[in-house]
Amino acid sequence: MSGVVREFDVVVVGGGHAGAEAAWACANIADAGAGLRVGLVTLDPEKIGAMSCNPAVGGLAKGQMVREVDALGGLMGLATDATGIMFKTLNATRGPAVRSPRAQCDRHAYAREVQRLLRSREAITIIGASVERICTEARGGRRVVRGVVLKSVDAAWDGVEVRARAVVLTTGTFMRGLMHRGDAQTEGGREGEGPARGISGALREMGFELGRLKTGTPPRLRRGSLDWDGLDEDGGEVAPTPFSEMTERGAFPVLEQVSCRVTRTTEAGHALIRENLHRAPMYTGQIESVGPRYCPSIEDKVVRFADRSSHHVFLEPESHESDWVYCNGIATSLPVDVQERLVHSMPGCERAEVVQWGYAVEYDMVRPHQIDATGMTKLVDGLFLAGQINGTSGYEEAAGQGVVAGVNAARWAMGEALVTLGREQAYIGVMMDDLVTKTPVEPYRMFTSRAEHRLILRADNAADRLTELGRAWGLVSDARWALLERRRAELERVDVLVESARCADGAWLRDAVRRPGYEAADLARDLALRPGVDVMWGVLETVHAERAYEGYIRRQHAEIRRHSSMERRAIPDGFDFARIEGLRSETKRNLSRFRPATIGQASRLEGVNPTDITVLLVAMQRSGAAG
Ligand SMILES: Cc1cc2nc3c(=O)[nH]c(=O)nc-3n(C[C@H](O)[C@H](O)[C@H](O)COP(=O)(O)OP(=O)(O)OC[C@H]3O[C@@H](n4cnc5c(N)ncnc54)[C@H](O)[C@@H]3O)c2cc1C
Repeated sequence: MSGVVREFDVVVVGGGHAGAEAAWACANIADAGAGLRVGLVTLDPEKIGAMSCNPAVGGLAKGQMVREVDALGGLMGLATDATGIMFKTLNATRGPAVRSPRAQCDRHAYAREVQRLLRSREAITIIGASVERICTEARGGRRVVRGVVLKSVDAAWDGVEVRARAVVLTTGTFMRGLMHRGDAQTEGGREGEGPARGISGALREMGFELGRLKTGTPPRLRRGSLDWDGLDEDGGEVAPTPFSEMTERGAFPVLEQVSCRVTRTTEAGHALIRENLHRAPMYTGQIESVGPRYCPSIEDKVVRFADRSSHHVFLEPESHESDWVYCNGIATSLPVDVQERLVHSMPGCERAEVVQWGYAVEYDMVRPHQIDATGMTKLVDGLFLAGQINGTSGYEEAAGQGVVAGVNAARWAMGEALVTLGREQAYIGVMMDDLVTKTPVEPYRMFTSRAEHRLILRADNAADRLTELGRAWGLVSDARWALLERRRAELERVDVLVESARCADGAWLRDAVRRPGYEAADLARDLALRPGVDVMWGVLETVHAERAYEGYIRRQHAEIRRHSSMERRAIPDGFDFARIEGLRSETKRNLSRFRPATIGQASRLEGVNPTDITVLLVAMQRSGAAG
């Protein structure tokens, strides 16, 4: 079908967690009246929404991001609520800033649900093909994206040029993906799936600087082969809170809930690993790229924490549709004979049958200083990148970037100004800012410690922070908007009650909420309000957090206001940093490489200090650019 041209407004390449969210965001905007057409091109449509590693969503800081994606009309929260088999709040006994929801999902049901949701959107056309080439053209002195060329087993799409005003690339771990297991190497982005070969070369030819990273996954075991009942149980919450504001509370959780088991590595297992390090691709030099330090392989843990004789391993059921169990804690690329002996050295796993061996995968990524905080590349107008391709790791990080790139791709296609989220608005904003101001030395994942305003960026108030913005961007449906309006009224009502009521011991409630250990559940008791019956779910948590930490929150808002004018002050596109007098050459080099869009971004670049910012502001003023 060479020579055939098809047209969309936006093309999303990749049906992983970033791509699904980007296409979904465009469909939301289409339904809000923009009438956009979105082509979602992915290697295998049956694998859309596949969870490459652990089928878990959320967790520390990641749970906050899923709530943010949901507040912006996203699909990850919906799919998680529909398919979760164990829900838990992490850090439940600690402060609200670091409390995070997490769910173990049914791997098969999750992917199916993502596919169902995407197929339910009229604006989205799903195409099974590989994108091998990106077409661009020169326009007004800039390079502008024109579309992509497909390679497909489906004759209707093979060789077709798909034109679009915006293209979102979300290729995950697939660009020149190479899997390692002992000395065996297989090309592919994920077990059982081939690599994307052409796209790396195409990006390089366009002038992009690529890097290479690595990640890994543990073996999966057959549950029936384990001493399941003899192991310690790790269960979920009895009455969990859903991720999505849209989830019908009465019918939640939807799927039957399961519990996990806990085992551990042993001294014998560690000795085995030490004896076989010369066969571990990470130590033989076979794997050259860097993996996540925060999520090390078991061989890495044994070397780095040599004084530890044991590490926890969580055995997590993957699905109601299979008896596979995920071994959380022993990601490895050791040869299979070593993996087998390692598994058998863990209590309760002595006779374990391994149904899939662990492996590591190396893949190409685009160094993220080449995008700006909208997700658009600085080199090619209309070309957006999101997810693992930007050097991040994790479904939630991918989803957050997918929303940002999706919104902006749609806006670019419609000729509207691009939008960003600030560090003070969302973890997603923190991530985008980090990506465009720092050089990743390992796969980037979100931590609460990355956010300076984490008392404001809580899981419970994501809708309050972002749904109005999402509505303005065309992402939020009428139904979701109505829920926010109801929530606002309830927040006000409960706040008035707290101000005027006394608790059982006669103290004013407004004072009691500040007592250490006084929680939202105590508020429910003292106000005689049953969540989900007399008051909307989540309202008491927010009122409690806002009251209990009022002083700190007020101070954080004051600090944000103090810095806001400088933070968002724009640096003109194309500003020549190299010609600024009075800057050290290292500073000039960094400014020229990252090309920050705002003074806030410039101030966070490595090697840029407050004096440099003053010099930059003076230079901008002299050139008539300071706002
Ligand atoms: C072995 C392994 C272990 C992992 N371990 C961890 C971990 O420990 N912790 C963690 O947080 N994350 C881990 N991850 C990463 C996690 O899976 C990703 O962060 C997440 O899936 C990224 O989402 P994404 O949308 O960017 O990419 P993916 O989910 O990888 O999706 C990419 C999509 O793009 C499609 N695609 C690629 N190239 C093309 C092309 N040229 N044309 C058309 N379609 C294309 C693919 O078919 C796929 O659908 C692991 C991944 C793997 C493979």
